Parts: sequence; structure tokens; C-alpha cells
Amino acid sequence: MFLGMSSLAAFAALFFQRALRPIGNTLARMGIRAPWHRSGPIDISYTTCDMCPWRCGVIVKTVNGVVHKIEGNPNDPKRRGMLCARGQAGVSFLYDPDRLKTPLIRTGERGSGEFREASWDEALQYVADKMVAIRDTDGPEAVAFFGHTSGEFWFTDYLPGAWGSPNAAKPSSSICTSPREEASLLTVGRPIGGHEPVDWDAIQCITLIGSHIGEDSRNTVMQDFAAARDRGARLIAVDPRFSTAAMKSDHWLPIKPGTDTALLLAWINVLITEDLYDADYVAEWTTGFEELTAHVSQYTPAWAAGITDLTENQIRETAREMARHAPQSAIVPGRHVTWYGNDTQRMRAVYIVNALLGAWGRRGGLYLNKSPYLEAYPHPPFLVEGGAGGCSAEPGEEGDDLPPGPTGKTRADGARTKFLRGPTAIQELIDPMITGDPYPIRGLVVYGVNLLHTIPNPERTKEALRNLDLVVAIDVLPQDHVDWADVVLPEATYLERHDELWALGHKTPYIALREPAVEPLHNTKPGWWMARELGLKLGLDSFFRWEDATEWIDKRLISVGSSAEKLHAAGGIIVQE
Ligand code: SF4
Repeated sequence: MFLGMSSLAAFAALFFQRALRPIGNTLARMGIRAPWHRSGPIDISYTTCDMCPWRCGVIVKTVNGVVHKIEGNPNDPKRRGMLCARGQAGVSFLYDPDRLKTPLIRTGERGSGEFREASWDEALQYVADKMVAIRDTDGPEAVAFFGHTSGEFWFTDYLPGAWGSPNAAKPSSSICTSPREEASLLTVGRPIGGHEPVDWDAIQCITLIGSHIGEDSRNTVMQDFAAARDRGARLIAVDPRFSTAAMKSDHWLPIKPGTDTALLLAWINVLITEDLYDADYVAEWTTGFEELTAHVSQYTPAWAAGITDLTENQIRETAREMARHAPQSAIVPGRHVTWYGNDTQRMRAVYIVNALLGAWGRRGGLYLNKSPYLEAYPHPPFLVEGGAGGCSAEPGEEGDDLPPGPTGKTRADGARTKFLRGPTAIQELIDPMITGDPYPIRGLVVYGVNLLHTIPNPERTKEALRNLDLVVAIDVLPQDHVDWADVVLPEATYLERHDELWALGHKTPYIALREPAVEPLHNTKPGWWMARELGLKLGLDSFFRWEDATEWIDKRLISVGSSAEKLHAAGGIIVQE
């Protein structure tokens, strides 16, 4: 029956495609442009959206070598085939007239934005020669790598590991999600890891602290949030602003900025003193409850009211509301949580509230996500092994000792002195570029990070850039910092390239393919190609024995009985139930 229906559908699609083509031809003869979907066969490719870090699975529709439409991939277990407006705007990103179009080498002062065009070979050889010169005098650690967006793997993980620099950093860590990850490791014993594990399907009481759902672009969270509210889930919104979420809430707590931890401590106090916590859950799954009880006894709602500008009654009522729906009740961990300087402790308090509600690992609370099974690519051992942080480390992998690079130096960002642990802090690598302390950083390879908008104190960043012997910018668009590069390497967009497989921990683990819809436009190249060509020029041949990205993808997919071709045929996504 299924085969019968499939054949019928395929026949119908072919029939309509053939039947519609003459209409397109007739319209063209009349000087009227046929709609894109009637002007030729529609080629389908599968990728993940790169317009924000959420990476929704998408289907790209191309006619006569031109991308016309991006749609949600219904095979994606999280997105239900839907995209946000920004995701659909990927077509404009591809055809943006301001794209970087060919490699450039600086001719004027650094920061002047004066360049000449160069061939790929010349540009990459320039970079390789400078990197080798820096390594010869100061070691490979003296070249730092900054990266973000989905192609970052090649420039913040693979190339730095092969080259031997522990100074590889991503803004998505130290100035975004790190506090929630570190707090989760310290309090729950596992990182949050990627997407927030809220069991939206069954949650009955949603508490948001500074999570601006409805004002950011994460398509699935918006869908989940709207569905939960639609079926009657209660909403507590803690936000100084009358935000979009606050407007929809049952309780809006317009808290004084910077005082969230006081509110959280008072909530813990109410849950314990009013006997609202899940005693069985706490007895079975937690330690230190007596110490916690003693510690929070001083943090009464009356105490917090004086700090937060909320009323004692608001604090008590919202704690009771949360407890009424437990364990289908949780504070959403949030994403960008680097705010006040006490963020790790604030997030620990969030997780303690969730534990008192019995939410961790419970239906309607916070699910324990599972990573898909997928073997790593079998490359030789890196010169800096996992644990450098931002190099090849996952949160939680690092040991007590920081792994050194090949000349014995560990990362230069002040880990273990300025801060305890965590992935490499991108902002803390600016100082060594200026002061040479603890050792000089003389070269910087930047992949997809707008340095002057991302890292605090742009004037200090410019001072650091002036000091360097090499600045390389790999990007699609001429972001502000590109003017400060010695060499600009224009990258193909996510619609024009293969990339590393997308395999993230989820409620339903899955693996997603990124394949090109069209050949790279202009004189641009995929990131994997640049990393490989540069690696070969640096003499790192043993790490780049693969010819192209499909060979890499095929090798990894062997472990799950698939290949790039099979994954395409399967609709771009493998779901591992
Ligand atoms: S939320 Fe929107 S922009 Fe982000 S990955 Fe999904 S479709 Fe793209």
C-alpha cells in the first residue's frame, strides 16, 4: 500500500513538472517571467540553517542553478518542518551583493580597509609563511584562532588541534552560555549542552528569568512556548521590561536588574520552609539538602523584597505557583546568560530550584538529553588534545591540569588564575596580544566572528590587532573587523558548501547533513577547503589525508551504516530513537 502511494506521488510530481514546463515556455515567449517553480525541474538539497545557531533542518529548492526557496525539513524532529522569517531570508544572504568575492591582501595601514585582489594560492601561502615564521620564534601557541557559526569546527577545533595551539576560542562560550554550562556541571553533574532541555510537550508551569521568548529568532522555542501556553501552561516572567513574554504571563515580576540571585534564594527558602519541595525526589537524587536549608534560612522573601524591588507576596505566590505544578514545572535555563559577573552562581541557584521541584529527568520538567551515536573522524592524535577548551573539548572533558601545547605552554587566557575553569575565554586572549603576558600571541585567524562587535572594549581589540604580525579574516560578508585583516579569505555560504555533520544532544538524537544547493559563487571557497589547503601548506599532511568534505562525511557515517549519498536519499536527517 505504501509503495503504491509512493509511486503514485512520484508519478503525479513528474506529470505536473512536465505538464507545467510548457506553460513556463509559453509565458517566456510572451515576455512574462514564469514563476520560479514552473521554470524548470526543482532540485532538492538538505542542509541546516546557518542564519542563527539553532540550525533548523532545511530543504533548499533550486531551479536552473538558482536557489529560490528554503523550507523547513519535516524530518527534523525538533522543528516540525517550520522556519522563522530569518531562516527563509537565507536566499538573500546567498545573493547579497556586498559579499566578499575573492581573496584579498592588505595594501594600506592595518584598519584602513585597503586591499588588492590575490589568488587563493598566493593568499594561503602568505598566511602559511607568516604562521611558520611565528611558530619558529614563539611556538604554535602564539597563533590564536577565534571562530563562530557552524563552520567553526575547521578553524577552532580541527586546524588548531593539528597545528598545536591551545588558544582557540569561541564567543559562544565565555560571553554567552558558559555560566549555565559550568553551573550545570557543578550542580547537576552534566552540561546543559546545546539546546535547552525543557520538556515543552508536558510542562505545566514555565518560569522565565531574562529569557526573551518571542523577541529572539529561535523558531522551535517559539513554537513550543506557544503550544504550551495554548494548552494552558502557566507562565511566570521575571524581567525588568514588560517584554513580549511578560505581556503573556500570569505573573510578571519586574525585578530590579542584577538582583535575580536574591529572588532565587528566596524562592528556595519558600519551597523549603513551606514544605513545597519534592521530598522524595530530593532524598533520592540530591546531596547537601541540610546544608542548603541552613544556608537559605536567612534569605527570606522579606529580605529579597528589599533587594529586588518585588513584594514579599509576589515572591511567595510565584514559588507556590511553581510548586503547584511540580514536577511539570521548571525555570528555563536560558541561553545568553553572561550578565552580571555572578552568573555561574545565579545559574546554580536556578538549577537548585529545578531540583527542589523534582524537574530534572521528569516528564514536563527538564529531560536528560542524549547524544546521537556517531564515530569521530579517525585523524592522528592532535598536538593539543581535548581539554584545551574551545579547541576540541566538550564542556566537562577538561581535567585538573590544562593540556599543554607542543612547547609545553598552556592556554594564555588566564584559566585557573583569573577564573576556575571552562572553555577558552575569547576576551581574555586580547590582553596577551598587547602585553605579551603570560606569553606573546602574534597571529590571529578569525572565522566568522565580528571582533569589534562581539568582544567588549573594541578600542582595546583594535590596539591588540595593531600589535599582531598576522591577522586573517575568513568571512562571507565584510564585517567591521575585516578592514583590520592582512589577508581576507572569502567563504562560501552554508548554501554552497558541505560541512561537518550536525549531531547534537537532544530529546530525540539525530544527525543532519549539510550539502550544497549550488556551487560557490564568485571566487569563494568552503571553510573545509581553506583549512585543508592551509594545513597542507603548513606541512600538516597527516591530518588532511581526505580529499574533500564528502570523504570526511562518508567516513564518519560508516559508523551508523550511512553515507552522504544515503543521507541525502533519506531526506537529510537520521533520527536515532
Ligand atoms: S531559528 Fe530561524 S534563523 Fe535560527 S536556525 Fe532556525 S530557521 Fe534559521
